[in-house]
Amino acid sequence: MMFSLTLVSFLVLQAYAREHAWSYKGNTGPEHWSMNYKHCAGERQSPINIDTTKVIKKDLGPLTWIGMKGKLIDESRPSAMQILNNGHTVQVNLKGDYYASGGGLPSGYKATQLHFHWGEDKKRGSEHQLNGKQYPGEVHLVAYDFIRFNSLEEALQNPTGVAVFATFIDIGKKNNDGYNAIIDGMDEVEFNGEVYDYQKTFPIHPLMSNKRNVFYRYEGSLTTPPCYESVLWTVFKEPVRISQRQMQFFREMLLNRPDEYITDPSQNDTLLLEELEKMNETIQVEKRSADNDTYVPEPEVDDGEDGKEMILRQLINNFRPVQKLNGRSVTASEPSAMGLSTSDETSSEDSGTYLAPSMVISFMMLLSSIILS
Ligand SMILES: [Zn+2]
Repeated sequence: MMFSLTLVSFLVLQAYAREHAWSYKGNTGPEHWSMNYKHCAGERQSPINIDTTKVIKKDLGPLTWIGMKGKLIDESRPSAMQILNNGHTVQVNLKGDYYASGGGLPSGYKATQLHFHWGEDKKRGSEHQLNGKQYPGEVHLVAYDFIRFNSLEEALQNPTGVAVFATFIDIGKKNNDGYNAIIDGMDEVEFNGEVYDYQKTFPIHPLMSNKRNVFYRYEGSLTTPPCYESVLWTVFKEPVRISQRQMQFFREMLLNRPDEYITDPSQNDTLLLEELEKMNETIQVEKRSADNDTYVPEPEVDDGEDGKEMILRQLINNFRPVQKLNGRSVTASEPSAMGLSTSDETSSEDSGTYLAPSMVISFMMLLSSIILS
């Protein structure tokens, strides 16, 4: 018993040591990140609090989106989606043609993944704050400058190489059907390290704010190690809303790895989730335990009726505290009163009907020259 637990802890520690353990609390928490990741102590870090009394108002023009409604641009280039729990977040990896441009961005950006940040209750969860208010969650769509760089990894090393589109997640009364695919996927990746391939792709726009022509823009960083300062942030003012029940699915994600399932040394078989749920009464849920990843299990071994015991650690409060502005300015962009449209939110969708036609044409030409080359 002792031997197997020690061995598991040792292996877990080994696995974390290789990638420099970091977490959201305790001795590997945000205040310690810069020990292993020097950029985390930089001058242009994210997230920030957006003080709307200090923003610079300027109409940066509408963002143009391609592929976000889930329609294929090119049938010969199939898209695919995969969801995973990496112990820090729930992430959806995107394969296919998903692009953003315009809205003051200096280039065309290709989205490669999206992921979430959330808290243990409605008072916390988002990374950015709006006038000191923290929302229950935040979704980040991560894109890289595909015109200058071949990959996200390459773009991360360069200023403005990456664009992240952030939407606050608030709790509303109704289920948001746009989140069904995420909720379903999370069910498959409850444990740290689990991956699930979607059979079908789903649209990305419903995961984001539906007022995508009103946003804040500033220069910042990745909000996780290695904290590279290569991110042009777009933070939408209007949150997306999901129900309390949907929010709860995020909070039930686990930091445990699947091999931590076996806690009964007399049983070598891995217990299935369904079985675990059936024996709910013998499961100890260790709440608010998103602290250090390099924990050593300290099971209170209580040979219950069936001798099975397991400690589940929640993946929650996976947000970095707000960082200093250090003289940076934040631009607030919304269509000016003389603009073509503020009421029809669908106008800034994939079609780009609300754009200067010349901008659409030049962006599309740029895109097609690269895609077809
Ligand atoms: Zn993020």
